[in-house]
Amino acid sequence: MTKYIFVTGGVISGIGKGITTASLGRLLINRGFKVIVVKIDPYLNSDAGTMNPFQHGEVFVTRDGAETDLDLGNYERFLGIDLNQYSNFTTGSVYNTVIAKERRGDYLGGTVQLIPHITDEIKERIYQLGRDSDAEVVITEIGGTIGDFETPPFVEAIRQMAVEMGRENTLFIHVSLIYTLPNGESKSKPTQHSIRTLQEYGIQPDLLICRTSQPMGEGIRQKISLLCGLQEEYIVEGLDTDRVDEIPLNFERQGMGRLVIKRLGLEERPPNDVEWAKMVDKLKHPQHRTQIAIVGKYVQGSDTYLSVKEALKHGGIANDSAVDVKWIESDMLADDPNLDEQFGEVDGILVPGGFGYRGIEGMIIASRYAREQKIPYFGLCLGMQCMVIDVARHIANLRGANSSEFDEKTPHPVIDLMRDQRKKTELGGTMRLGLYPCVLKENTKSYEAYQQPIILERHRHRYELNNCYREALESEGLCFSGVSPDESLVEITEVANHPWMVGSQFHPEFQSKPLEPHPLFRDFIRAALHYQQQRRKSVD
Ligand code: GLN
Repeated sequence: MTKYIFVTGGVISGIGKGITTASLGRLLINRGFKVIVVKIDPYLNSDAGTMNPFQHGEVFVTRDGAETDLDLGNYERFLGIDLNQYSNFTTGSVYNTVIAKERRGDYLGGTVQLIPHITDEIKERIYQLGRDSDAEVVITEIGGTIGDFETPPFVEAIRQMAVEMGRENTLFIHVSLIYTLPNGESKSKPTQHSIRTLQEYGIQPDLLICRTSQPMGEGIRQKISLLCGLQEEYIVEGLDTDRVDEIPLNFERQGMGRLVIKRLGLEERPPNDVEWAKMVDKLKHPQHRTQIAIVGKYVQGSDTYLSVKEALKHGGIANDSAVDVKWIESDMLADDPNLDEQFGEVDGILVPGGFGYRGIEGMIIASRYAREQKIPYFGLCLGMQCMVIDVARHIANLRGANSSEFDEKTPHPVIDLMRDQRKKTELGGTMRLGLYPCVLKENTKSYEAYQQPIILERHRHRYELNNCYREALESEGLCFSGVSPDESLVEITEVANHPWMVGSQFHPEFQSKPLEPHPLFRDFIRAALHYQQQRRKSVD
């Protein structure tokens, strides 16, 4: 019998439901259970692909090419599993399905309504995921906040599921906020209200996670217990931390894993979190420290490059090093006369993915600086394209070289629209998306990292290196160390005469996990540490 856990959030958005859900999944994985997770987003977009990363954070791409909410990245990293398109759906996609069915005549003249048609579609998607994944536990995270206009259909759907599956097979977890006043006093009233709203929808939470900026006193726990009908041990403290990987350990310490198992009637097994604890310990006590500059377009909203940040951290774990990020807005670099100052203290430069012309010239400057100064450089998708444009303009003397994405009339479109993209007119879900194989050339940085001839990586792009320029660029010291099996697409480029300058057309950051750091990120950080040592030596 599959068990179902539902996670809702109260009081404020951005309360950490995603990390909580991922951490809860980890507690079950540590006990050897097969777990799958699904995130429901209450907005009308069909998926996250068309959403501005500055507002909503990064678009995470699954193996099968779905453009999803960034929480799927958190789930994959914490659970150590790969998810697919069925682990994320939106109000928009639910309505699309129901309206398409209505147009086909599937409802045989019936009146199509929020209840039961929309709620049935929601329930069916969650049940189907349980059946198809063969999971013992399905965790469903409901996006948004209880009380929002958009969430009631989802809350109603999960209420019905608890009736259908039996209360003993379902568990409701509510993540809420304990507000701390400037005088240090903790307040539980907002939490009481959000639980009351949940109760109005017919749901009594079984377990409450209280996000708080200071340790919760006994008094507040007793008050919530009394007023909200929860036993005290089922009120878990979620203390603020900037080390999110520690959260599963904190939850376990408070007995949350045991409580969840008990409530769901699952077999109690001793948790095995040795590996995870070891990883966290490495994070807390690194031997080295390295600084990486991320030169991007949206640096203020740090969630825009969430998986990149995480993958750098994993690369650090593999090298026993903390990784500090210096955020550099690429726009600023274009008219900055003092690059030596900007990059003086950094051990590596990374240019992440992106779209549109704004900020590009600054990224090309960063790439050129890394190339000339022999600073380790890692280009991800757009970052690879910028690296190619730099080499074309400044070494191959192709004046005005550019990507046709940024200058349609460039005399040298060294980066150009992929052939199968030319006929596409719609923006949503039409890029080259998901996992594709890539063949590696021996005796290259890439081969050295992966140690295998064929790799699979996740993509999200429309443009590619223009094959007409392959020869010209190769003769100027660009090495195409990874290509598609039919050799028609360049997937990785390297600057041959450089300690470590690698650009990938794919997004390696999506596959990096704390317990399995990605080989390219591992080697990039290793090169950065090496560069740091050399620089220190030359200063001595
Ligand atoms: N805009 C570029 C393209 O579409 C790069 C995309 C990316 O960095 N994900 O090819």
